[in-house]
Amino acid sequence: MGETTDVACRQCGGAMEATVRHQNNLLLQTLGVIFVLTGLLVLGSAGLALIGGLAAFAGGDRSGVAVLAAEAMGTAIGAALLVGGARLGHKKSRVWQCAACGYFYERL
Ligand SMILES: [Zn+2]
Repeated sequence: MGETTDVACRQCGGAMEATVRHQNNLLLQTLGVIFVLTGLLVLGSAGLALIGGLAAFAGGDRSGVAVLAAEAMGTAIGAALLVGGARLGHKKSRVWQCAACGYFYERL
């Protein structure tokens, strides 16, 4: 868009431009990958167990209701880890950036 403002750069006095900066945190990204892998593992095993449990439940076996609930929760936790892990370490921040010297500060 290149939207400019009459705010002058604090360093060189140039025009500031509204832009978005992408910041990646390598440590958090690594943690995110671990979360995603853990999530996949949990989701996979809990999901399979859930299907097996549901089949037994449908077959008239009512003894595994608590186990079934735990498996459903495990599936939800696995999915949450997957989504959370994928987003971890990526940050978008809206900034004003000087076109001349690159100086920037966060937009409110
Ligand atoms: Zn500047």
